[in-house]
Amino acid sequence: MKKDSLIVHAGRHPEQHFGAVNPPVYHASTILHPSVAAMESSGKKPFEGVRYGRFGTPTTHAFEEALAAVEGGHKTVATSSGLAAITGALLAYLKAGDHLLMVDTTYFPTRKFCDSVLTGLGIETTYYDPLIGAGLKQLLRPNTRVVFTESPGSLTFEVQDIPAIAAIAHAHGAVVMMDNTWGVLSFQPFAHGIDVSVQACTKYIVGHADAMLGAITLADEDSWLKVKSSVAAFGHSPGAEELYLGLRGLRTLAVRLKRHGETALTLCRWLHARPEIERVLYPALPDDPGHALWKRDFTGACGLFGVILKPHAKAAIEAMLDGYSHFGLGFSWGGFESLVIPTYGHSVIRTASAWDNAACSLRYHAGLEDAEDLIHDLEAGFARLKAAS
Ligand SMILES: *Cc1c(COP(=O)(O)O)cnc(C)c1O
Repeated sequence: MKKDSLIVHAGRHPEQHFGAVNPPVYHASTILHPSVAAMESSGKKPFEGVRYGRFGTPTTHAFEEALAAVEGGHKTVATSSGLAAITGALLAYLKAGDHLLMVDTTYFPTRKFCDSVLTGLGIETTYYDPLIGAGLKQLLRPNTRVVFTESPGSLTFEVQDIPAIAAIAHAHGAVVMMDNTWGVLSFQPFAHGIDVSVQACTKYIVGHADAMLGAITLADEDSWLKVKSSVAAFGHSPGAEELYLGLRGLRTLAVRLKRHGETALTLCRWLHARPEIERVLYPALPDDPGHALWKRDFTGACGLFGVILKPHAKAAIEAMLDGYSHFGLGFSWGGFESLVIPTYGHSVIRTASAWDNAACSLRYHAGLEDAEDLIHDLEAGFARLKAAS
């Protein structure tokens, strides 16, 4: 089955629900058992069936089944946010004395978690250049247990050579994880050597900026049980409505992503030709440094990209951003709406690779508005930039 068909069918069992097209939303904490014997036997096989709300309901299972199919993995563990999926995956595999290799372009809260919680637990993190490729070998230590990747990084958009990194890490016996949020549907993590794939479903899967949800997908039963046990021990469980919004978003993911990607490419091409712009950061552009790797490993893109402006005063950039009518000033991405955030100053934290913090960089999300309207909005912004310079 092709991907677009798969996301329509995955996790649906109408025959179990009176023919209802969508799985019902189970609001449940307590699950009643008919007898003590049934209650006792329900706990025999870990996480099988429906036992208590925190371990999952049929709504959880429907979402997890669908997402495992989309990611091309064995099984999925749903979590209460994307960050809970990242921390849940890391803590399932790392213990005191272990070493973690973390990509320097990682999502900032992931970095914060490594530098605070993991450090406090006696787990050491070394950040590595996203473009390191096979050079990762030099950074491996006998206690390196996990190599974490994120490609492209969601602020500066460098594309990583995932198969090269995975081959080196596997030869060393390390587990390779990926934050695959940007590449949802367009990057097949398990076909490229990833062992643990994490999604911030809050972004494109939910797709409407109205719920927090995360997921960890695993390659086999043993790693699923390991991660499920760890996530359950921490008590991370997503709410019923959030799971349903994730399932509902999934059904239209392919068409939305196609449109987000087309609009982003149109905007990037237009911005690329503008005199105010130093560089556009979007791997689907043919002259992007990550284009060859993106073309080799991805089947598409999404609506998230960056730009570096030629030097302008902060006040002039603010006048440009404050006055947009379509690009809202807000964190997150993947919803139907266009967004922008400034990424200059100290927003981009790098410790293992070069990035000019002084550059006037911005991050845009191309929403589902008409591309011409968005271009007019950008154009009016450049007029404000000029007037205030
Ligand atoms: C937003 C985001 C996350 C975290 O997801 P939440 O659901 O907000 O916790 C993780 N990784 C990336 C790349 C993100 O953009």
